[in-house]
Amino acid sequence: MKYPAVKNFIQGQFVDAENSDILNVISPVDGTHLSTVPMSTAASLDNAVSSAKAAFKFWGKTPIKERVQVFFKFKALLEKNKLELAKLVSEENGKTPDEGLAEIEKSIELTEFACSLPQLITGELLEVSKGIECRTEHVPLGVVASIVPFNFPSMVPCWTIPNAIALGNCMIIKPSEKVPLSIGRIAELLKEAGLPDGVLNVVHGNSAVVDAICDHPDIEAVSFVGSTKVAKIVYRRATQNYKRCLALGGAKNHLLVLPDAIPDMTAQNITASMSGCAGQRCMAASAMVAVGEVDHIIDKLCAEAKKMVAGQNLGAVINSESRERIENYIDEAEKMGAKILVDGRNTIVSGKEKGTYIGATIIDYVTPDMSVAKEEIFGPVISIMRTKTLDEAIAIENNNPYGNAASVFTQNGAAARYVIEHASAGMVGINVGVPVPREPFSFGGWNESRFGVGDITGKSSIEFWTKLKKSTTKWNPQAGVNWMS
Ligand code: NAD
Repeated sequence: MKYPAVKNFIQGQFVDAENSDILNVISPVDGTHLSTVPMSTAASLDNAVSSAKAAFKFWGKTPIKERVQVFFKFKALLEKNKLELAKLVSEENGKTPDEGLAEIEKSIELTEFACSLPQLITGELLEVSKGIECRTEHVPLGVVASIVPFNFPSMVPCWTIPNAIALGNCMIIKPSEKVPLSIGRIAELLKEAGLPDGVLNVVHGNSAVVDAICDHPDIEAVSFVGSTKVAKIVYRRATQNYKRCLALGGAKNHLLVLPDAIPDMTAQNITASMSGCAGQRCMAASAMVAVGEVDHIIDKLCAEAKKMVAGQNLGAVINSESRERIENYIDEAEKMGAKILVDGRNTIVSGKEKGTYIGATIIDYVTPDMSVAKEEIFGPVISIMRTKTLDEAIAIENNNPYGNAASVFTQNGAAARYVIEHASAGMVGINVGVPVPREPFSFGGWNESRFGVGDITGKSSIEFWTKLKKSTTKWNPQAGVNWMS
């Protein structure tokens, strides 16, 4: 085993879970046995909540300008330890070292945003009638929880930890059991940055911990990021227990390509979008809608996809079940009459035979009834559907139940504007394959990609992690004068 057994992090210490069940943590890169992760029970969660509850008594009352000092130091520590963290992300998740580094850089940017929160949360005050003032202020919720997926072991935790904690909450985070290592380093670095014990607690495990989070009476809010199936379970259960909940789900992102798109740039962007992080991004391009005659762009797309070399500039998918699931999608599409233009099945990387790789795959002549057209594949695969008009393409995009992202590639401003207006997605790209809004803009999809109100990052997160205190003040206007005399 390459690293010591993963432990929970409660009250500033790494501690064993109250249960001996463990899972092995295997690197998708080459099958190395990295560690083990405990499957905690409700008892461990309870300890974590008690710790967070005690910490909230002082952390919630600490002025925000003091609280963010921890995140200034944390940001510096992320920068200092960037390469080590990137390596860990890449080892446990399977993404390439460059993608691991990009993930840490994004984690730094998210932390930087949290440092700016004092500038953004100033309240309002108005004299509403003579001598009477109304005032609003954002106050923290208390103990909150964040449940995160496997595809970004550092970045998605950094969507929630810095903002929620800078805003005065104390947090329990439940990492994905598939990638439990990076969060331990994040917790250590936060402690080194001066975060008091109990403000952040990490409880590892599976659905048992998630259920316990949704049911725990002392947890005020639950943030979830993962598949739509589980987002629905978590949203339903947490809100049934009267908690605030924002649950981000899966995606099926459509890229519309018009004949006037710049061929090289379009092909490169689409390839990067569908194969970056081996297609395991909720913002990955998963369906391309070719509007009219764009075969010259599809040819370039195939040439670009062939430049993606598994084990070099194309990372692994998370495990062999995932690889099998993705290959089954491709098999099924082929059986139903789709044409496989670039085939990534049966990819084996020499020297990393136990790694779980799949090459970039382009499937053409996909029809809307095929599973590859309808479902999230979460692998380096793009399905091409063909339409005659932009309206038909938009109808295909609108008909998919998700709504994370949609993009259009064109040089026509009116067409681009039309797609912004008509795409049923929370994030729209114009000549951008991965339209993630950067801080301070917030991140969040629509439809079955997001349950709850608001977005998870940026300014929108302030509403989720705080509640508004409204106070009305009336003083005798003469009191000061009398006192002076
Ligand atoms: P997942 O839904 O399987 O797991 C997410 C979390 O839920 C994990 O911590 C896991 O332990 C827990 N979980 C799993 N099954 C559960 C159950 N039955 N009950 C309660 N908890 C359960 O997701 P994943 O496979 O880790 O991540 C990939 C998915 O996440 C993709 O669908 C991807 O699109 C989505 N995702 C969405 C966004 C977004 O912003 N919308 C961002 C990243 C990932």
